[in-house]
Amino acid sequence: MTEHPPYPTANSTADFRRNLATVQDRMAAAANRVGRSPGAVRLLPVSKTVDSSRLRHAIAAGCTELGENKVQEALRKSVELADIPGLRWHVIGHLQSNKAKFVAQFAHEFQALDRLSLARTLNNRLEAADRTLDVMVQINTSGEDSKFGLPPQEADAFIRELPAFERLRVRGLMTLAANSPEQDRVRACFESLHSLRGRLRENAPSGVELSELSMGMSGDFELAIEEGATVVRVGQAIFGPRALPDSYYWPEGEENS
Ligand SMILES: *Cc1c(COP(=O)(O)O)cnc(C)c1O
Repeated sequence: MTEHPPYPTANSTADFRRNLATVQDRMAAAANRVGRSPGAVRLLPVSKTVDSSRLRHAIAAGCTELGENKVQEALRKSVELADIPGLRWHVIGHLQSNKAKFVAQFAHEFQALDRLSLARTLNNRLEAADRTLDVMVQINTSGEDSKFGLPPQEADAFIRELPAFERLRVRGLMTLAANSPEQDRVRACFESLHSLRGRLRENAPSGVELSELSMGMSGDFELAIEEGATVVRVGQAIFGPRALPDSYYWPEGEENS
């Protein structure tokens, strides 16, 4: 993972068709290498920083679900694109509890559940809005302080509490791998999420479905698929390089309650 292929920027529907086809071909090849069915892995395009007019081209090229890590940016785009039927929004980044009300308003899925206080706030907000929300529990598999998510050893106790929140549908686990040029370290994160899921499933409370493993991004989605990902979250390989560094999207020391 030292070198990424260049990420070609997509501005037209034809550009998006090309980039999506390239990513889907690479996904299928990765699945085939380990004897998995390519149909078992979903592509979630991550559209953070991309404005709604470009998103219309991505949607015309076939994107029906979009992942965003900043909730207000996502909410704004969901309003701008409200004329498009069936578009589904996934909030994939760390969420401050005071922004749970926005997620409850428009999101279909939230991938970064990492504390009970947030589960409670989301559940209350969803009840008020009479909506439900698919959620994934974020696990910190790399041990890096800069990553959000529960330590793996806390996941079991955490998941046992979730059936109390009736508006949340627990779909699976999500992780961000180590930010490392060493392929083995990255792969170890994916492997550990997969094996954690296996252990959790053995005594998961009823109603808690752990069918999904959301792992892998532009730089590492093939490794993630080889290690069992059911959803890969891919931004730059579809939309093109982002101008801002990743530290902008994963701020350290952000208020966590
Ligand atoms: C931005 C982001 C991604 C996608 O990263 P790319 O390098 O653009 O593929 C995946 N997951 C999360 C949580 C993100 O914030």
